[in-house]
Amino acid sequence: MSFKISCQGATSIKTFVDFLWQKLTPAITTTIQKNLTTNIAGDMRTTCSAFNGNKANLEKHILISLAEEENFDNYWEYIHKPQSFFRSYIENQTKRYCSDRGSKKIETFLKMNLDNIKNLILSSICEATAVAKDKNSTVSEWLDLFCDSLGSNLIFPRKDLKNIEHQKIKDMEFLKEAMSTALDPAMKGVEQHCSSMPVETIVPNIEKTLYEQLCGCLKQCPFCRAICTNTIPYHDGDHIVPFHRPQAVNGWYKDTTGHFVIDCCTSSIESNNAIILKNGEKRLYKDYRQAGGDYAEWKITTDLSTHPYWKWFVSHFRSKLEEKYQKKFEGTGKIPDAWANIRKQKMLDDLKQ
Ligand SMILES: [Zn+2]
Ligand SMILES: [Zn+2]
Repeated sequence: MSFKISCQGATSIKTFVDFLWQKLTPAITTTIQKNLTTNIAGDMRTTCSAFNGNKANLEKHILISLAEEENFDNYWEYIHKPQSFFRSYIENQTKRYCSDRGSKKIETFLKMNLDNIKNLILSSICEATAVAKDKNSTVSEWLDLFCDSLGSNLIFPRKDLKNIEHQKIKDMEFLKEAMSTALDPAMKGVEQHCSSMPVETIVPNIEKTLYEQLCGCLKQCPFCRAICTNTIPYHDGDHIVPFHRPQAVNGWYKDTTGHFVIDCCTSSIESNNAIILKNGEKRLYKDYRQAGGDYAEWKITTDLSTHPYWKWFVSHFRSKLEEKYQKKFEGTGKIPDAWANIRKQKMLDDLKQ
């Protein structure tokens, strides 16, 4: 008689343990992938020079690499679609990290996470059992204790365990043994699954993490398309940027001649020149904020110390810009000789400082 009860007990514990591990395994994999993403993004923020500072530092690296590549199409994307440009820049850097010096580190991070989770589960099993034995608890209460002990370290919803919480299990010590015995093979399975996964599968998550941490507001100056430096998307207050660009970068031209406007918006807003809005209405540059929309959200201050970067760009890519925008660098839009004399290396050295 007692042998029969014991056998029944063993069977129901086996069913219980199998079911629990069936639910735990995918949760462990998900948690490990999430932690790996955080570890790798964190490591990239300390070891990759483009990511180890703030947004201004990232943008500086982007400007340097654009100038080094001298690829006009890439510039075009950066000027007109900064969001997708930033995302693919981060994605490429992440791929390079993962295939390069990061691959060894990813192995180490994976091992560390597997060990942590294994220890967490083991201690949760022991803790839940000790308390349950003490209080003569039901298996449903054991599950509560187990999940509480895992806490937020393992994303594992208690509500998924409704099916097994009414099992008649009395022998808590046997439950603990069965759970602990299943731990090793289960973790081996997770390890195999995680290490056989191509690294590309986590690249999008890392890219998203870094993008959210670094890119902030990507609103662009309505005149020159310079990107707001604020590190918070949808921030309060005005958009600002310390360095604006010659407006020809954004294709602005004089309506009477079709010649490019090479002035920076920071000097145009001091002039008595007017802008023509999309609805045909004319307004002085200095009153640009009254034009509403994007104009109203920007605070542009007069500043005559423009960085040589965009002057070099305009001069270097003058024919590409003329071709793309179908306008000319002539008349008031003639490119000054001084711009053509800017040496790229000197300009980049200045930028790097
Ligand atoms: Zn501007
Ligand atoms: Zn902004």
